[in-house]
Amino acid sequence: MSTIPSSTVPEPTYEDGEFVPTRDVPFSSELDEMIAEIRAGNAPNIGRFCGFCCAPLGRSDYCGVCDLTTERVPAVDKIDRELAQIYHAKRKREGLYVHLAAWTGILLATALSILLILVLPGWTKVFAIIFLVLGGYFAGVFFGNVLVQGFAYRAGLKMFARRWAEWRASAAEAVRTD
Ligand SMILES: [Zn+2]
Repeated sequence: MSTIPSSTVPEPTYEDGEFVPTRDVPFSSELDEMIAEIRAGNAPNIGRFCGFCCAPLGRSDYCGVCDLTTERVPAVDKIDRELAQIYHAKRKREGLYVHLAAWTGILLATALSILLILVLPGWTKVFAIIFLVLGGYFAGVFFGNVLVQGFAYRAGLKMFARRWAEWRASAAEAVRTD
């Protein structure tokens, strides 16, 4: 796979904070789900997909993800293996960020409750234990879900944009298209 200069990596498009697929960054959440199902062994890698971005087409001749018709780019019946790996890598990256954030929250709550054990007098130290259990749980959920999900979401799409552009570049090296 060829690496391309970061200046040529396309920027994902957002509208009201929601990602909008474009031909430059044709990420399909439908395809994302499908690849996860195939990897889990719940579905076969067969169907009718856009010949450009591999988004599932169903019976349609138009791809709403990259805005191309099957007349211009003929449909394919399999998801490209390398593209499936890019989708999988994106999922893994997002999961890593969410886990890291959740653990940061849990560690912070733990540090706080140790501090409470030190400063609280006598039997009131029991509150430190309660805080450790509840605070750790809520901090983990809060950091993992609320705080980082927007960040992980954008970081994942940024990664997808770069890997997609690199994949296209190496495909173009192999076969001259258009
Ligand atoms: Zn497409």
